[in-house]
Amino acid sequence: MERRQFLTSAAQGTAAAACGGLAWYALLTQQAQAAAPLRPPGAAADFAAACIKCGQCVQACPYDSVQLVPTGGAAGSGLPRIVPRQAPCVMCEPLHCVKACPTGALNPGLTDITQARMGLAVIDIEHCLSWQGLRCEVCFRVCPVQGQAIRLVSQQRQLSKHAMFVPLVQAEACTGCGLCEKRCPTDVAAIRVLDPAQVQGRIGEHYRLGWRHGQTQPDAADAGAPDGYSPLAPASGAPSRSRASSQSRAPAGLAAQKPAASPLDYLNRESRP
Ligand code: SF4
Ligand code: SF4
Ligand code: SF4
Repeated sequence: MERRQFLTSAAQGTAAAACGGLAWYALLTQQAQAAAPLRPPGAAADFAAACIKCGQCVQACPYDSVQLVPTGGAAGSGLPRIVPRQAPCVMCEPLHCVKACPTGALNPGLTDITQARMGLAVIDIEHCLSWQGLRCEVCFRVCPVQGQAIRLVSQQRQLSKHAMFVPLVQAEACTGCGLCEKRCPTDVAAIRVLDPAQVQGRIGEHYRLGWRHGQTQPDAADAGAPDGYSPLAPASGAPSRSRASSQSRAPAGLAAQKPAASPLDYLNRESRP
């Protein structure tokens, strides 16, 4: 009897642990899904309250980019969202989803899709092919705001004198469309669109960046610098666009590469149905 009771208890314990594990996994999955889902362009700050879950934006999107959060536990069930790895926003014009929204939860004042801020692309440089020394640049080429939302910068290789080109996101121009995340060739996207509030820091007003436009008391050494000067840009002979990237987050020593002459390269055409 003791042996039978022991085996029964062990089996019950194993089953309970398995159920607990499944419940914990489900909880984590649920939390991951609930973490700041990306909304269609123009989503208001009080989007969850303003949206009546009518699904008209879902129906209006010609690219099936908008889907409703499934019912059954996930936070925000029934609200529209965009899952970039599945179906990013292709930044269509006119903005069909915004036009279809009957409540203004998607701001009808948004008429220029480049002004949308659905999220912010963030690069995991430890798993980005380019940052690891391979040639990729897919995200740079598929980005509809090419040359502005993602810049390529040159960086010295560790084992040779040849430079490699690596992508950097410019927060001020990224719409959060997610095309980069969709097309990133790594198994798990090395570039992802996230809620800016979760990934962006804040410098603090007591730091003075005298070389930036609008600073009232620039450092003496930078007093003659043109508007938009960045210490990360090439010292001379550089394209003016790179100097305008005053909010670059490049590590020191990186130099900006001249953006592609035409955004209509083959990858961009491929990404636009
Ligand atoms: S902007 Fe166009 S592509 Fe993007 S979600 Fe709205 S309807 Fe779809
Ligand atoms: S597409 Fe992905 S792997 Fe390629 S450069 Fe961009 S982030 Fe890196
Ligand atoms: S989400 Fe990616 S593809 Fe879209 S604008 Fe931002 S960097 Fe470009």
